[in-house]
Amino acid sequence: MKHLLVVVSFFAMSETIFAQNNLAQRLFDAHDLFKEKSVSLRREFKHRQLVPLIDKLKTNPKFAVSEAGKSFEGRSIFQVKYGTGAPPVLLWSQMHGDEATATMALLDIFNFLNASGDGFDDLRKKLSEKSTLYFVPMLNPDGVERWQRRTAQEIDMNRDALRLQCPESKLLKNLQQTLKPLVGFNLHDQSPRYSVGNTKEVAAISFLATAYNYERTINSVRERAMQLIVSMNRDLQAFIPNQVARYSDEFEPRAFGDNIAKWGTSLILIESGGYKNDPEKQYLRKMNFITILTALERIADGTYTRENRADYEKIPQNERNHFDLIIRNARTERNGLTYTVDVALNRNEINSADAKSFSYKSSIEDFGDLSVFYGIEEIDARGAFLTDNNGKPLVLKLGDKADFELRSDKNTQKIVNGFVQK
Ligand SMILES: [Zn+2]
Repeated sequence: MKHLLVVVSFFAMSETIFAQNNLAQRLFDAHDLFKEKSVSLRREFKHRQLVPLIDKLKTNPKFAVSEAGKSFEGRSIFQVKYGTGAPPVLLWSQMHGDEATATMALLDIFNFLNASGDGFDDLRKKLSEKSTLYFVPMLNPDGVERWQRRTAQEIDMNRDALRLQCPESKLLKNLQQTLKPLVGFNLHDQSPRYSVGNTKEVAAISFLATAYNYERTINSVRERAMQLIVSMNRDLQAFIPNQVARYSDEFEPRAFGDNIAKWGTSLILIESGGYKNDPEKQYLRKMNFITILTALERIADGTYTRENRADYEKIPQNERNHFDLIIRNARTERNGLTYTVDVALNRNEINSADAKSFSYKSSIEDFGDLSVFYGIEEIDARGAFLTDNNGKPLVLKLGDKADFELRSDKNTQKIVNGFVQK
């Protein structure tokens, strides 16, 4: 044991990496204890479900809760403060109303911070004494109500950082200017069909150390975000191997991330993407819980400074090479001539009238040689003919609903609204 300790102390960096990998695993194992179980369906989680959860924190001496402002339609936007140390860190979620994953993770983090006596008290103490955390969960509650990206003014507030026409935008800028956080976490969801580089893997989580100018200069503010992301990526590889990507760092002068980086806060964008058989993104919620807490520890103890920012560039870029379903090598016919096609289709979510649930509406997105694309689900249809539901050769048209059949000598497989009928 003594020998081991000596070796470990010689390699302080590996010690840190080991300890933090270990923290990620412990958080993974314990997440269920902290999961806010009243919330698990994205569209059902509205502002009125958030209010009582925040109210509970108001009487809790571990937190300081205030109203940071109101949405355009007058819904309270809350700020939850934890800790009293330096540096300040600001985390905000759901500036796009239909991106709920991280808000759920923040609720889990509140439960985590409130617990005690479970082996995580050292971390809580560190976070509370060596940083001050400011959380703004659900920045765009009006958009949440409608389950839409934009605010009640139909403005994408992530293009409103300069003009500040939304009260939600003014509020966010004001928080950055007054709190002057060292690090900001900008928490979003992205399409579940982004790919990790040119691989067959879907991007489960994507990161970005946001650029602050067109030249994408790396100053010390941006470098800090890159170093943190290097460590966050390393931890997540244990749970979502090869499913972490890097968002494009093209500068967007109107976006919040870009401006907040320009205003001097190291900006970490986290995008929850797709994970197989997880339409409500509950596994990705858990990934957010882990990656945010491990990053917060590194901010509090400063260990992120040991990371090599060059490793950031090794994370593959987000690409768009995935469809929900690709049918390979089917035969079809036109004017009496038969030929081979791959067919790609997506299942798009359509809100119910009250925006609390959804149904799928599928469409044919592409066909032809799709060998450079991947299906999250794939069917090899070699030997089968594409027909309509009357057995006639299918006339393929982009945008058509994916209702057709694959007929071979042996059997008929029905595709109904984009789903393979078993
Ligand atoms: Zn977003």
